[in-house]
Amino acid sequence: MKKAVVLGAGGFIGSHLVKRLKSEGYWVRGVDLKAPEYSTTKADDFVIGDLRDVKVVNQVIDLNTDEVYQLAADMGGAGYIFTGDNDAHVMHNSGLINLHVVNECVKKKVGVVFYSSSACVYPERNQMDPDNPRCEESSVYPADPDSEYGWEKLFSERLYATFSRNHGLNAKVARFHNIFGPEGAWNNGKEKAPAAICRKVAAAPEGGVVEVWGDGKQTRSFLFIDDCLDAVRLLVKSDFSGPVNIGSEEMISINEFTKLVAEISGKKVVIKNIEGPTGVRGRSSDNRLVEEKLGWQPNNDLRSGVEKTYSWINSQVLQLG
Ligand code: NAD
Repeated sequence: MKKAVVLGAGGFIGSHLVKRLKSEGYWVRGVDLKAPEYSTTKADDFVIGDLRDVKVVNQVIDLNTDEVYQLAADMGGAGYIFTGDNDAHVMHNSGLINLHVVNECVKKKVGVVFYSSSACVYPERNQMDPDNPRCEESSVYPADPDSEYGWEKLFSERLYATFSRNHGLNAKVARFHNIFGPEGAWNNGKEKAPAAICRKVAAAPEGGVVEVWGDGKQTRSFLFIDDCLDAVRLLVKSDFSGPVNIGSEEMISINEFTKLVAEISGKKVVIKNIEGPTGVRGRSSDNRLVEEKLGWQPNNDLRSGVEKTYSWINSQVLQLG
């Protein structure tokens, strides 16, 4: 039986990944500062531990580990990474985790390590036009990410690359573009736009006001969690190492996205655009490389992903009263 270690297994993508690996017959160890918040972990072994501590990393990655999935990071939505308040934490916490993980994977001769980078590595200058953002993998340099979170991701991409070159690490790197779905952060200050908007619509009365940060004309694309996991698994099994985009090309403005959520909810709402952190003007995945190398494209369109996510967030809002 193959043995996988999922770092960040108490988080949104990590907890779903554990379920996926279990359904594929893996023995799985999950590691996180916390257990998953919205369902019980499916991991065979779940270690509550701080991956900034090298002793914890040493303990959880052992000699017969076939695959490591490194998803642990200090991160959140625009309200967390664009205000500047959390920059030192983001750089230091995530940087330390990755520095320990690469070293330990080499020492323990881990078969393959997957690292989740982000679309936030792409230069701001290519994402000023909401209708025409440029995010192909090769456009990442000269580097100019719009957040320290993006700079840390870029540093860590390079860290995994250097350990591959100099120490024979078998690293696979993906740049996730806005992954969403049920059981993600939705009301703790770390939620991202899709979850925040679903929550606001779910909480609004018929005809009520929904506040949207910025002018709402900023564009994004969103990838449903199941599709993200399909792509991660394909990448890990392939002989391609990336970095490669894992995202959707179905771009939408945030106001249009809000209208879509309202339509799915069956409510009429009034959108009020207010000041708030928004990030770049436009961002969408460019899937040419992932399609060429892995033959992958998302199975879920935006609407079907939003239907599943809205339904879950709505039930959370109702439970809280
Ligand atoms: P998440 O915040 O839900 O999960 C990250 C997990 O890492 C959390 O459970 C957190 O507790 C854990 N963690 C943080 N510091 C830790 C530490 N010191 N020790 C142990 N655990 C620690 O985020 P997510 O959405 O599941 O994202 C997973 C990964 O994918 C992250 O690396 C993130 O940067 C990357 N990513 C996500 C998206 C997205 O849209 N969700 C987009 C781009 C990149």
